Amino acid sequence: MKAIFILFIIALLSNSPALSATLKLPECLLEQSLETEVHFYISEDVLNEYSPEFVKAKIDSWIAYANTTLKNSCIPTRRSATHIEYVSELDSSWFQDVDVAERLLKNELGRQVPETNANGHPIFNAIVFSNWLNSYKSQYCGYASSSTFFFTIALNCPDSVLEHEIGHLSGASHDIKTLKEGVEAFDLEEYWMSSYPPGKPYSLGYVCAGRGTIMSYEDDRMPVYSNPNIYWDSKICGDAVTADNSRVLTEFAKQYLVR
Ligand SMILES: [Zn+2]
Repeated sequence: MKAIFILFIIALLSNSPALSATLKLPECLLEQSLETEVHFYISEDVLNEYSPEFVKAKIDSWIAYANTTLKNSCIPTRRSATHIEYVSELDSSWFQDVDVAERLLKNELGRQVPETNANGHPIFNAIVFSNWLNSYKSQYCGYASSSTFFFTIALNCPDSVLEHEIGHLSGASHDIKTLKEGVEAFDLEEYWMSSYPPGKPYSLGYVCAGRGTIMSYEDDRMPVYSNPNIYWDSKICGDAVTADNSRVLTEFAKQYLVR
């Protein structure tokens, strides 16, 4: 695939000191994109710390980062925030258990929450809390359901976290270094089979020249999914056999676009 070089100033992408390097992206012509709605259900207690204008601006920057990531990765998908609703204070200690948070939300609302729109396309539902550190020793800034299109996220999370969690909901996994951390005798085959539906063997994230793709836990993450046609500083950022989350998300989109 023909490729173009784009000069990036790292400081625009992270809090790292300013220096420049090259991110080589694939050139792609996307004929049709899946428009995916993201609905936000926000615990009212965030207003003790933040104004509604701040919350809206934060959501806008999460969505902008997501769309940059999808475009950079040549994935035929766009996201938009189409519903923002404040709900009575939700117990933020349940931030780590997205299934319980989903039940709390539905109890508060007293109604079902749609996970598809009128076209049958997915709606991703974010349950938004103020601070991810409020939940008992939470180590992570967001949690994705393994069975629905819900995820939790906090307002003090980096902009990349929204697309990271939606990546999980679309079938993307972490990079191998993250998966092996703290797991003795990690077995990738077992890992794929233990997920439901089973993970695709090319759905790993990737770390290239010390920087992570969006599904990694590297401190320095780039707005790209793993992809064997993307290079950072001349190092490949994916592997066609094991780490091509751009393909995973493209296939996720196409199952809806062909309808
Ligand atoms: Zn994750």
